[in-house]
Amino acid sequence: MILFKKAADLSHFLTQKANAGNKIGFVPTMGALHPGHISLIGYSKMNCALTVCCIFVNPTQFNDANDFEKYPITLDKDIDLLEKNGCDVLFLPDAKEIYQNRLSSLPHYDIGYLETVLEGKYRSGHFQGVCQVVHRLLDIVKPHNIYLGQKDYQQCMVIKKLIALIDIKTDVIICPTLREPDGLAMSSRNIRLNVSERKKATKISETLQFIKKEIKPGQLNELKDWAVKKLTTEGFKADYVEIANAATLEIINKWDGTLPIVAIAAAYLNEIRLIDNLLLQ
Ligand code: AMP
Repeated sequence: MILFKKAADLSHFLTQKANAGNKIGFVPTMGALHPGHISLIGYSKMNCALTVCCIFVNPTQFNDANDFEKYPITLDKDIDLLEKNGCDVLFLPDAKEIYQNRLSSLPHYDIGYLETVLEGKYRSGHFQGVCQVVHRLLDIVKPHNIYLGQKDYQQCMVIKKLIALIDIKTDVIICPTLREPDGLAMSSRNIRLNVSERKKATKISETLQFIKKEIKPGQLNELKDWAVKKLTTEGFKADYVEIANAATLEIINKWDGTLPIVAIAAAYLNEIRLIDNLLLQ
Protein backbone atom coordinates (compact mmCIF):
# COMPACT_ATOMS: atom_id res chain seq x y z
CA MET A 1 0.00 0.00 0.00
CA ILE A 2 1.30 3.43 -0.91
CA LEU A 3 0.70 6.19 1.62
CA PHE A 4 0.22 9.81 0.52
CA LYS A 5 0.00 12.83 2.78
CA LYS A 6 0.02 15.53 0.11
CA ALA A 7 -3.00 16.11 -2.14
CA ALA A 8 -0.89 17.20 -5.12
CA ASP A 9 1.24 14.02 -5.01
CA LEU A 10 -1.83 11.78 -4.78
CA SER A 11 -3.60 13.65 -7.56
CA HIS A 12 -0.56 13.33 -9.84
CA PHE A 13 -0.22 9.59 -9.13
CA LEU A 14 -3.93 8.87 -9.69
CA THR A 15 -4.15 10.92 -12.89
CA GLN A 16 -1.37 8.76 -14.36
CA LYS A 17 -3.13 5.57 -13.25
CA ALA A 18 -6.49 6.72 -14.66
CA ASN A 19 -4.89 7.81 -17.93
CA ALA A 20 -3.39 4.32 -18.21
CA GLY A 21 -6.95 2.91 -18.11
CA ASN A 22 -7.20 1.94 -14.45
CA LYS A 23 -10.61 2.20 -12.78
CA ILE A 24 -10.32 3.97 -9.44
CA GLY A 25 -12.49 3.14 -6.45
CA PHE A 26 -12.61 5.45 -3.42
CA VAL A 27 -13.51 4.73 0.22
CA PRO A 28 -13.52 7.88 2.38
CA THR A 29 -13.46 7.24 6.15
CA MET A 30 -12.68 8.91 9.46
CA GLY A 31 -10.58 5.97 10.62
CA ALA A 32 -10.97 3.72 13.68
CA LEU A 33 -11.61 1.13 11.01
CA HIS A 34 -13.83 -1.90 11.56
CA PRO A 35 -15.09 -4.71 9.29
CA GLY A 36 -17.82 -2.38 7.92
CA HIS A 37 -15.16 -0.09 6.46
CA ILE A 38 -13.16 -3.08 5.24
CA SER A 39 -16.23 -4.43 3.43
CA LEU A 40 -16.26 -1.20 1.38
CA ILE A 41 -12.61 -1.83 0.46
CA GLY A 42 -13.67 -5.33 -0.63
CA TYR A 43 -16.49 -4.02 -2.87
CA SER A 44 -14.10 -1.54 -4.45
CA LYS A 45 -11.47 -4.22 -5.07
CA MET A 46 -14.10 -6.38 -6.78
CA ASN A 47 -14.80 -3.69 -9.37
CA CYS A 48 -11.79 -1.39 -9.58
CA ALA A 49 -8.14 -1.78 -10.51
CA LEU A 50 -7.04 0.61 -7.80
CA THR A 51 -8.65 1.15 -4.39
CA VAL A 52 -7.96 4.39 -2.53
CA CYS A 53 -8.91 4.80 1.12
CA CYS A 54 -8.80 8.13 2.93
CA ILE A 55 -8.59 8.57 6.69
CA PHE A 56 -9.40 12.10 7.79
CA VAL A 57 -11.36 13.15 10.86
CA ASN A 58 -13.07 16.10 9.27
CA PRO A 59 -13.53 18.92 11.80
CA THR A 60 -16.15 20.78 9.75
CA GLN A 61 -18.74 18.00 9.99
CA PHE A 62 -18.79 17.84 13.80
CA ASN A 63 -21.55 19.92 15.34
CA ASP A 64 -20.39 18.84 18.80
CA ALA A 65 -16.83 19.80 19.86
CA ASN A 66 -16.76 17.06 22.51
CA ASP A 67 -17.63 14.39 19.91
CA PHE A 68 -14.76 15.65 17.71
CA GLU A 69 -12.25 15.65 20.57
CA LYS A 70 -13.24 12.14 21.64
CA TYR A 71 -13.45 10.65 18.14
CA PRO A 72 -11.42 7.40 18.31
CA ILE A 73 -8.05 7.32 16.53
CA THR A 74 -6.37 3.93 15.93
CA LEU A 75 -4.04 4.76 13.04
CA ASP A 76 -1.44 1.97 13.37
CA LYS A 77 -4.18 -0.66 13.55
CA ASP A 78 -5.99 0.97 10.60
CA ILE A 79 -2.88 0.90 8.40
CA ASP A 80 -2.31 -2.74 9.29
CA LEU A 81 -5.93 -3.65 8.47
CA LEU A 82 -5.87 -1.81 5.14
CA GLU A 83 -2.62 -3.47 4.17
CA LYS A 84 -3.90 -6.94 5.11
CA ASN A 85 -7.05 -6.36 3.08
CA GLY A 86 -5.31 -5.29 -0.10
CA CYS A 87 -6.00 -1.56 -0.13
CA ASP A 88 -3.70 -0.02 -2.77
CA VAL A 89 -3.46 3.60 -1.64
CA LEU A 90 -4.03 5.38 1.68
CA PHE A 91 -4.51 9.15 1.72
CA LEU A 92 -3.73 10.57 5.13
CA PRO A 93 -4.02 14.34 4.86
CA ASP A 94 -4.03 16.92 7.64
CA ALA A 95 -6.63 19.70 7.84
CA LYS A 96 -4.29 22.17 6.11
CA GLU A 97 -3.95 19.84 3.13
CA ILE A 98 -7.72 19.54 2.83
CA TYR A 99 -8.80 23.09 3.58
CA GLN A 100 -5.72 25.01 2.44
CA ASN A 101 -6.21 27.66 5.16
CA ARG A 102 -9.64 28.47 3.75
CA LEU A 103 -11.62 27.21 6.74
CA SER A 104 -13.33 30.57 7.16
CA SER A 105 -14.54 30.79 3.57
CA LEU A 106 -15.77 27.32 2.68
CA PRO A 107 -18.52 26.92 0.07
CA HIS A 108 -22.18 26.44 0.96
CA TYR A 109 -24.09 23.65 -0.79
CA ASP A 110 -27.78 23.81 -1.59
CA ILE A 111 -28.83 20.33 -0.54
CA GLY A 112 -32.39 21.47 0.17
CA TYR A 113 -34.83 19.25 2.06
CA LEU A 114 -32.13 16.77 3.16
CA GLU A 115 -30.64 19.43 5.41
CA THR A 116 -33.94 20.05 7.22
CA VAL A 117 -34.84 16.53 8.39
CA LEU A 118 -33.46 13.78 10.62
CA GLU A 119 -29.64 14.14 10.81
CA GLY A 120 -29.89 17.50 9.03
CA LYS A 121 -32.29 18.80 11.66
CA TYR A 122 -30.51 17.37 14.71
CA ARG A 123 -26.91 18.01 13.59
CA SER A 124 -26.89 21.59 12.40
CA GLY A 125 -24.16 22.19 9.80
CA HIS A 126 -23.14 18.52 9.70
CA PHE A 127 -24.03 17.92 6.05
CA GLN A 128 -22.37 21.17 4.92
CA GLY A 129 -19.18 19.78 6.50
CA VAL A 130 -19.70 16.43 4.78
CA CYS A 131 -20.14 18.19 1.40
CA GLN A 132 -17.07 20.37 1.95
CA VAL A 133 -14.77 17.45 2.66
CA VAL A 134 -16.22 15.07 0.08
CA HIS A 135 -16.13 17.74 -2.64
CA ARG A 136 -12.45 18.41 -1.94
CA LEU A 137 -11.63 14.68 -1.80
CA LEU A 138 -13.46 14.03 -5.07
CA ASP A 139 -11.46 16.85 -6.68
CA ILE A 140 -8.23 15.24 -5.52
CA VAL A 141 -9.02 11.56 -6.18
CA LYS A 142 -11.40 11.86 -9.17
CA PRO A 143 -12.64 8.30 -8.61
CA HIS A 144 -14.80 6.37 -11.05
CA ASN A 145 -16.71 4.90 -8.09
CA ILE A 146 -17.19 6.05 -4.51
CA TYR A 147 -18.16 3.34 -1.99
CA LEU A 148 -20.43 4.36 0.90
CA GLY A 149 -22.20 2.45 3.68
CA GLN A 150 -25.97 2.28 3.96
CA LYS A 151 -25.39 2.70 7.71
CA ASP A 152 -25.23 6.46 6.98
CA TYR A 153 -28.38 6.43 4.87
CA GLN A 154 -28.98 10.17 4.71
CA GLN A 155 -25.29 10.86 4.09
CA CYS A 156 -25.46 8.60 1.00
CA MET A 157 -28.34 10.72 -0.30
CA VAL A 158 -26.48 13.95 0.46
CA ILE A 159 -23.36 12.75 -1.39
CA LYS A 160 -25.48 11.73 -4.41
CA LYS A 161 -26.98 15.23 -4.36
CA LEU A 162 -23.52 16.81 -4.03
CA ILE A 163 -22.24 14.82 -7.03
CA ALA A 164 -25.21 16.03 -9.09
CA LEU A 165 -24.63 19.63 -7.93
CA ILE A 166 -20.94 19.71 -8.80
CA ASP A 167 -21.61 17.74 -11.98
CA ILE A 168 -18.85 15.12 -11.84
CA LYS A 169 -18.86 11.61 -13.23
CA THR A 170 -18.43 9.50 -10.10
CA ASP A 171 -20.82 6.59 -9.50
CA VAL A 172 -22.10 6.17 -5.96
CA ILE A 173 -22.12 2.55 -4.78
CA ILE A 174 -24.09 2.01 -1.58
CA CYS A 175 -23.00 -1.08 0.36
CA PRO A 176 -24.91 -2.98 3.08
CA THR A 177 -24.50 -2.22 6.78
CA LEU A 178 -22.25 -4.70 8.57
CA ARG A 179 -23.48 -5.68 12.02
CA GLU A 180 -22.11 -7.34 15.13
CA PRO A 181 -23.51 -10.86 15.80
CA ASP A 182 -26.10 -9.33 18.18
CA GLY A 183 -27.36 -6.91 15.51
CA LEU A 184 -25.60 -3.69 16.55
CA ALA A 185 -24.51 -1.77 13.45
CA MET A 186 -20.71 -1.56 13.42
CA SER A 187 -19.48 1.97 14.08
CA SER A 188 -16.21 3.61 15.09
CA ARG A 189 -18.06 5.18 18.01
CA ASN A 190 -18.93 1.72 19.43
CA ILE A 191 -15.38 1.60 20.91
CA ARG A 192 -16.49 4.32 23.31
CA LEU A 193 -19.39 2.30 24.77
CA ASN A 194 -18.78 0.87 28.24
CA VAL A 195 -19.85 -2.69 29.02
CA SER A 196 -23.40 -1.83 30.09
CA GLU A 197 -23.89 0.69 27.24
CA ARG A 198 -22.63 -1.89 24.74
CA LYS A 199 -25.22 -4.36 26.02
CA LYS A 200 -28.04 -1.82 25.71
CA ALA A 201 -26.90 -0.57 22.29
CA THR A 202 -28.54 -3.55 20.54
CA LYS A 203 -31.95 -2.08 21.42
CA ILE A 204 -31.72 0.30 18.45
CA SER A 205 -31.51 -2.45 15.84
CA GLU A 206 -34.05 -4.53 17.78
CA THR A 207 -36.47 -1.59 17.69
CA LEU A 208 -36.01 -1.18 13.94
CA GLN A 209 -36.54 -4.93 13.45
CA PHE A 210 -39.73 -4.73 15.53
CA ILE A 211 -41.00 -1.90 13.30
CA LYS A 212 -40.22 -4.01 10.24
CA LYS A 213 -42.18 -6.93 11.69
CA GLU A 214 -45.18 -4.97 12.94
CA ILE A 215 -45.67 -2.30 10.27
CA LYS A 216 -49.01 -2.39 8.45
CA PRO A 217 -50.59 -0.06 5.91
CA GLY A 218 -52.34 2.92 7.54
CA GLN A 219 -51.35 5.35 10.30
CA LEU A 220 -47.79 4.91 11.61
CA ASN A 221 -47.78 7.33 14.53
CA GLU A 222 -48.55 4.73 17.17
CA LEU A 223 -45.68 2.52 16.00
CA LYS A 224 -43.23 5.46 15.95
CA ASP A 225 -44.35 6.63 19.42
CA TRP A 226 -43.94 3.09 20.72
CA ALA A 227 -40.39 2.97 19.33
CA VAL A 228 -39.33 6.25 20.96
CA LYS A 229 -40.86 5.16 24.29
CA LYS A 230 -39.14 1.78 24.05
CA LEU A 231 -35.71 3.40 23.59
CA THR A 232 -36.40 5.93 26.34
CA THR A 233 -37.36 3.13 28.76
CA GLU A 234 -34.13 1.33 27.89
CA GLY A 235 -32.13 4.42 28.91
CA PHE A 236 -31.60 6.16 25.55
CA LYS A 237 -32.30 9.78 24.72
CA ALA A 238 -33.82 9.41 21.26
CA ASP A 239 -33.39 12.24 18.75
CA TYR A 240 -35.82 10.46 16.44
CA VAL A 241 -37.25 7.15 15.31
CA GLU A 242 -38.89 7.80 11.97
CA ILE A 243 -40.34 6.05 8.98
CA ALA A 244 -39.54 7.78 5.71
CA ASN A 245 -39.81 7.42 1.96
CA ALA A 246 -36.71 5.37 1.07
CA ALA A 247 -36.04 7.44 -2.06
CA THR A 248 -36.57 10.97 -0.72
CA LEU A 249 -36.57 10.70 3.10
CA GLU A 250 -39.95 12.46 3.20
CA ILE A 251 -41.49 11.52 6.57
CA ILE A 252 -44.35 9.06 6.19
CA ASN A 253 -47.20 9.13 8.73
CA LYS A 254 -49.68 7.10 6.71
CA TRP A 255 -48.40 4.24 4.58
CA ASP A 256 -50.14 2.75 1.54
CA GLY A 257 -48.43 -0.62 1.99
CA THR A 258 -46.46 -0.42 -1.26
CA LEU A 259 -44.20 2.67 -1.13
CA PRO A 260 -40.58 1.63 -0.34
CA ILE A 261 -39.82 3.00 3.10
CA VAL A 262 -36.97 3.04 5.61
CA ALA A 263 -37.07 2.97 9.41
CA ILE A 264 -34.35 5.25 10.70
CA ALA A 265 -33.22 6.16 14.21
CA ALA A 266 -30.72 8.26 16.15
CA ALA A 267 -30.34 8.05 19.90
CA TYR A 268 -27.86 8.86 22.64
CA LEU A 269 -26.61 6.38 25.19
CA ASN A 270 -25.17 8.87 27.68
CA GLU A 271 -22.59 10.83 25.59
CA ILE A 272 -22.53 8.52 22.60
CA ARG A 273 -24.86 9.07 19.68
CA LEU A 274 -25.76 5.99 17.66
CA ILE A 275 -27.62 5.85 14.34
CA ASP A 276 -29.10 2.97 12.38
CA ASN A 277 -31.67 2.26 9.69
CA LEU A 278 -33.49 -0.63 8.07
CA LEU A 279 -35.17 -0.80 4.68
CA LEU A 280 -38.67 -2.10 5.25
CA GLN A 281 -39.19 -3.67 1.85
P1 AMP B 1 -16.97 6.82 8.88
O1 AMP B 1 -15.55 6.44 9.08
O2 AMP B 1 -17.86 6.50 10.03
O3 AMP B 1 -17.13 8.22 8.38
O4 AMP B 1 -17.50 5.87 7.71
C1 AMP B 1 -16.84 5.77 6.49
C2 AMP B 1 -17.70 4.97 5.54
O5 AMP B 1 -17.91 3.67 6.08
C3 AMP B 1 -19.09 5.59 5.32
O6 AMP B 1 -19.48 5.44 3.97
C4 AMP B 1 -19.95 4.77 6.23
O7 AMP B 1 -21.30 4.71 5.85
C5 AMP B 1 -19.29 3.40 6.09
N1 AMP B 1 -19.66 2.55 7.23
C6 AMP B 1 -19.62 2.89 8.54
N2 AMP B 1 -20.09 1.88 9.30
C7 AMP B 1 -20.44 0.89 8.44
C8 AMP B 1 -21.01 -0.41 8.62
N3 AMP B 1 -21.31 -0.88 9.82
N4 AMP B 1 -21.22 -1.17 7.51
C9 AMP B 1 -20.92 -0.69 6.27
N5 AMP B 1 -20.39 0.53 6.05
C10 AMP B 1 -20.17 1.31 7.12
